Amino acid sequence: MKTIDQFKRSEQTDTFDEISKGVGHFDVKGKTILIPEMNRIGCHLMAGVFRGFGVSSFVMDTYKGLDMGKEHTSGKECFPCIVTLGDILLYMKKEEERLGDQFNPESYMYFMPESGGPCRFGMYNKFHRIILDSIAGLDRLKIVTLTADNNYSLDGLLPKEKVLEFRKAAYLSVVIGDALDRLLWRIRPYEKKEGEADIFINNAIERMTEFFSKYSSGKNLHKIVDELEEIVKKSREVIDPDIPRKPIVAVVGEIYVRSHLKTNQDTIRMLEKYGAEVVNASVGEWINYITYDQVRMAKRDLKIGLKSLRIKDIKDSLFRYLKYSMTLFYQYMQQRKIYRLALKYIDIQEDHKIGHLEKNLKNNNAFSFEVGTEACLSIPSALEYARKGFNGVVNIFPFTCMPSNLTSSIAKPLMSRLHTPYLDVSYDGSFQPGREPALRTFMYQAYQHFKVNGRA
Ligand code: SF4
Repeated sequence: MKTIDQFKRSEQTDTFDEISKGVGHFDVKGKTILIPEMNRIGCHLMAGVFRGFGVSSFVMDTYKGLDMGKEHTSGKECFPCIVTLGDILLYMKKEEERLGDQFNPESYMYFMPESGGPCRFGMYNKFHRIILDSIAGLDRLKIVTLTADNNYSLDGLLPKEKVLEFRKAAYLSVVIGDALDRLLWRIRPYEKKEGEADIFINNAIERMTEFFSKYSSGKNLHKIVDELEEIVKKSREVIDPDIPRKPIVAVVGEIYVRSHLKTNQDTIRMLEKYGAEVVNASVGEWINYITYDQVRMAKRDLKIGLKSLRIKDIKDSLFRYLKYSMTLFYQYMQQRKIYRLALKYIDIQEDHKIGHLEKNLKNNNAFSFEVGTEACLSIPSALEYARKGFNGVVNIFPFTCMPSNLTSSIAKPLMSRLHTPYLDVSYDGSFQPGREPALRTFMYQAYQHFKVNGRA
């Protein structure tokens, strides 16, 4: 007979299995993949990659369904979880209105990756599953996920022989998305005519998405890179050379909110309004961090296996170590290639190497990769930017975000020691009258720093 505890545990497991059934690696053939918009560019390029492999894919309209997201949540959830829930609910509602009797939720798949560890990102798709299951018909809408725990493996989604090709194109889309973002932040503060940089980048997004749709599959990735080169070359024409360089400000923080324009109320534009040139942390940095962490853990397991002389463990960890080291090497190589290409024409900021960031944390005894989360990137990046001579650092995050509050408590005193202006800005969907004055005051400090120390 089961004890009460065993009974409770098995009940919980059954329930959790039930939730997990509609979340996972499903064959995407013949389905339409629905991608939530996170950053301005990368998600559109990713939709292009799916289309390049013959899978219909769309980026959903974002933020317009926020009220629906709020209706199904208590307010205690992470804000990105509420926003993305609203995106999928509104999209489904509109599709039902548009298609009437022809509407079939089974023909779509909702794309929601996850990461484990102490952070709640691993729970978004399970929580969304519970909500979708509670709405008539939407229990048939599957949630397709990729998890950081196996370095975002694509096994099961696509035919085996296509997985590696897709992975390469997908990574390229991430890096090109980052490079185009950085291009926008580099040219917009110096544009000849107001609005010209945004128009230029919007055209570039369309062009690059089209190229990813055409050339992701097969051996034509170089055509995408060639097109990027044309775009970067032309971007210089947007700049007015008579406008002097401005104070440079770095943005770190939680990946969704710092990247999602509506959620962060376009903080970068606001900083630019008060005289900044801004560099936001990239999405590629997060992908590289996930791969780096797999290498780190395989190395740790290998050491344990060697100590205990367990042959199976040694083999397994050695295999993982080699596999992820090669993946990381490939990613760095691709990333360097794209940034070097852009740097031939314009000085955008390159990304940090993750190993360098870890060393930086260790040297400062500031945090540990053993704890995990985005704090592993935000804290050493802030330090790195300050040492390089950036004129200020802004930490953008969702209100109540655990890793970002860690970042804030550790980075703030470090920035103060380095005499670098620093500001925390948290978002939960409300409009705070004090936010603009706070950013403006921060920019005043950044400008004083700039006057004394110059630019990085
Ligand atoms: S990083 Fe913050 S907002 Fe994102 S899932 Fe984790 S706790 Fe939530």
